[in-house]
Formats: sequence, C-alpha cells, structure tokens
Amino acid sequence: MIVVMNGRATQADIDRVVVTVEDAGGECFISPGKNRTIIGLLGDTDRFMSLPLGGLPGVDEVIRVGKPYKLVAAEARSTPSVVSVGNIDIGRDAFTIIAGPCAIETEDQAMSAARAAKAAGAQILRGDAYKHRSSPYAFQGLAKTGLEILKQMRIETGMPVVTEVLQTSDVELVASYVDILRVGARNMQNFQLLREIGKIHKPVMLKRGLSSTIEEWLMAAEYIAQQGNQDIVLCERGIRTFEPMTRNTLDLSAVPIVHKLSHLPIIVDPSHASGKRELVAPLSAAAVAVGADGIMVDVHPHPEAALCDGPQALTNDEVPPLVKELAAVAKAIGKPLSRPRHALTAVGE
Ligand code: PEP
Ligand code: MN
Repeated sequence: MIVVMNGRATQADIDRVVVTVEDAGGECFISPGKNRTIIGLLGDTDRFMSLPLGGLPGVDEVIRVGKPYKLVAAEARSTPSVVSVGNIDIGRDAFTIIAGPCAIETEDQAMSAARAAKAAGAQILRGDAYKHRSSPYAFQGLAKTGLEILKQMRIETGMPVVTEVLQTSDVELVASYVDILRVGARNMQNFQLLREIGKIHKPVMLKRGLSSTIEEWLMAAEYIAQQGNQDIVLCERGIRTFEPMTRNTLDLSAVPIVHKLSHLPIIVDPSHASGKRELVAPLSAAAVAVGADGIMVDVHPHPEAALCDGPQALTNDEVPPLVKELAAVAKAIGKPLSRPRHALTAVGE
C-alpha cells in the first residue's frame, strides 16, 4: 500500500503518517519526490485500510497495490491446487470433461444423456434439479425428484456428478447427492450462499457472473475459501457484451489470467457461453488449447424437445467425436484426459 502526500505536505504531516502506521505495527519507506513524497507501507494491509490515513493533513491519496484476495491468490500455495471430485482430480495436469443434461427433465432423458456421456469417455456428469431461469414461467427443475434421478445416473454410470444449488437452505440436501456443488452465474455474488458452502466439506464449482470482472470472481471465491472450503473450481461461462450473435461472449483470456493470479483450477462452459450447438466443439478445442483444466457441456437426446437450453445442447451422437477431438488437442499440449483414480464410492465416503 502507498500513501501519496500532496505538494503542500510538511515534514510534520509526513511524520504523522509514519507514526500512525508504526503504531499499527507497520513500517514506512519514504521516497521524497520533487513535487510529492510517496510513503510505502509494509505490514498488514487490511489493518492499514482501517486507519484514517486518507483524512490526515497533507495526504492526497491512499492506494492499495496488493491483491484484495489472499487465500485464492497464486502466492498462497507453492503449487496449483487439485480438486478431487469423487474419483476424478480436476487440476492443471489433466483435462476433465463434464457432460450431461442442462436440466433433468425425465428419468429417460437424463439417463440417456448420462449413458452417452459415459460411452463417449467424459469423466463427470452434470444434471440440474433446480434451475435458475430468467423467466418465472420457464421450467424450474424437478427439485427433489431430479436429485433422485441424479443419484441413479451416478450409480448406473459410476461417474461423479455436479448440480447447481440455488439457495442457502438447500445446501445440505443438495450436497448429500453430489460430488461437487455448483454456484451459477446469477448467484456468484450471493455472499450468504458462498459463506454457507464455505462451511461444508464439499468441492464447489463457481461460475463467473454474467457481468463480473475476474477480480470480482476471485473475490467471490475468496468468500468460500475464507470459511474454510478451498476445494474450488472456477468456470468461465461467457460474459455479457454488445455482441448478440452468441448468448454470451466467451472470455478465453480469463483462463491464462486466472492461472496466473490464482492457484485454483479453471474450466470453460462453451454451451452457456455460446448458446449455439455448432459453436460448442470449436470453443471446446480453443479452451483446451488456451490451457483450461476442463470443459462442461450440455447434452440432450432430443434437443428440439428440451425444456431448457435445447439450442446449445449436443445430441448424444455428437459427444464421442467431441471427446475424441479434445483428447487429441489435449495430448498435443501435453495434458491428457483425466482418469478415475479408483471406483466411485458413495457420496461423502
Ligand atoms: C447451467 O450451467 O446450467 C447454468 C444455469 O449456467 P449459468 O449459471 O452459467 O448461467
Ligand atoms: Mn442451462
């Protein structure tokens, strides 16, 4: 953190800043300038932020230069983190493919998509029982019945599962069915929900908010980490821009930026980013090439009849060629597809 003094500041003004910082356990480094003196502060930045430095005579500006997030920052760990999701590890050494229905609509539909994902070689299943829809008239999900179908999908395929949790009161229930919880884009800054998830021992996928900056996203992750849960996977799902050709604009630069700023793994959701089936394969390949740690794609046996997000869902038949292509691109950049470490055990074991 630095304190910039104004051109009229006296030595007494500078000394007052120094004493205030030293009284708070910090150290000051003074760089006298021709017009203004800059004071560099070393120590507990959060403590300094609570001091009334900006109001002291002669002070022009107080600038925070360190990162506002700590636990999820790259510097917090000596190596990037790996998040264990059931029997699959999500991290930088391998590429993980998550596939399945956007929403669980019927047992037949969800099982069919799950079987297709497994046969194609995906590693984790998705399927939502609770949907966060922009319209109150749209399909909202099967709730508990959907969770029971998800359980069947998990048992039959032996694959870990992810589903979205919408509200604080559902966290415990939803966590008892899944290997990794998901916080959707619309809830990225639902701080109460983030705190609640932070208190439990269950990995969480945190999607980027529709109009959130990367720093806001990392601060949302910090909310979870600060409560003790550091098993966080970030998911880039496109952001709102002026471009209407795609549902959102996939911000692939977020991948290397997050890898530089944070130790957390980051995956890409090309389905919700583009909203268009034909863009899912090229964007998935780009995600691998840019270094993402995985992708999550929507699959539906009959997208034309889907109750949610049909235009962006791959058909069952489109999953095997996609997995094959991604395996080849992943291999080319030295990142093989993830493999199960062992047979899947019951949730929570
Ligand atoms: C989803 O993955 O089904 C979803 C609702 O995505 P998002 O929260 O990114 O809109
Ligand atoms: Mn969806």
